[in-house]
Amino acid sequence: MTCSGSVTVSRGGCRKWLGGVFRDRQILVRTAGRIYAFRLGRKLQLALCCSVVAAGAWTAFASSEYFVQKRSLTARDHQVSRARAAYDDVLSDLAARQREVDALAGDVARLTEMQETGRGAVRILSERAARFVADWEQVIARTGLDARELVAAVADGPKASGGPFLPARASDDDGERTPLERDLAHFEDRLDELASLRHAISRLPLTVPLDAYAVSSGFGRRRDPINKKLARHEGIDLIAPLKSPIHATAPGVVTFAGKNGKYGNFVEIDHGAGLKTRFGHLGKVLVKKGQKVEFRHKIALLGNTGRSTGAHLHYEVRVNGKPRNPMKFIEAGRYVFQKQ
Ligand SMILES: [Zn+2]
Repeated sequence: MTCSGSVTVSRGGCRKWLGGVFRDRQILVRTAGRIYAFRLGRKLQLALCCSVVAAGAWTAFASSEYFVQKRSLTARDHQVSRARAAYDDVLSDLAARQREVDALAGDVARLTEMQETGRGAVRILSERAARFVADWEQVIARTGLDARELVAAVADGPKASGGPFLPARASDDDGERTPLERDLAHFEDRLDELASLRHAISRLPLTVPLDAYAVSSGFGRRRDPINKKLARHEGIDLIAPLKSPIHATAPGVVTFAGKNGKYGNFVEIDHGAGLKTRFGHLGKVLVKKGQKVEFRHKIALLGNTGRSTGAHLHYEVRVNGKPRNPMKFIEAGRYVFQKQ
């Protein structure tokens, strides 16, 4: 029980209790044969006691403050180190991302380089395809026909005989495309043209119907071999031994097979696109009307029937009913086969 803390103890009681505890005291000190007496009064004892208590309280307070402060500083240190660690993480993450970006930039550079290489290759192919297109157009021109008209006529022909594959042209939809894609589209267009031209050329009668032959009479105006009058010869005459095999000069359908007046035994083949070939003065006919024939199909044997002065083949090429010079087709064919 403390003096100040009790409200039940009277002021006089407290003084009495203090008087009991802090009585006047003497301290005797003997040194060098002499005795010294020191008096410790109550007030001095009380003051000393209060000083000791105050010093203890201060020490306790300061210690607790120290520990509180220390704990606070430690916590702050932890916070700082955590923040520093987080910052280091962010830095290393940024560095890693930067490396990824650098790698991507390298990839883009390589892709761009590859695209340029690809474009170069595609351009070379396009130029080559364009040269082929020009070559094929020249072949058709040699026959006297217009390449574009022939391609259009063949494309409009019966699909059962196999038309060219004509996909929608990539250049028709020239939206957001890379330069390489545009070059590829251009190349595809050339390939489409080439396919159409090759298909059209495959319909042309570019060969001679006989394996061994000699031309005895050309196309155009000539003196008639029987009445000796000037006349128009609508085909060419080819001489060869009797019964020599006669071949179809292009694929098509037989539209006539049999006797045909002055032509004698006669065969007509429709190749589509307005193209027909006609064979006169035949010996034996080996095909029937309506029959499909392939290129080099044996259609007849050489003969001497009709208005003929000897064994020969009268051979015609007609375009939309109009006679054309078969030699022009044969010469164009020689150009084609020479190049292959
Ligand atoms: Zn003739």
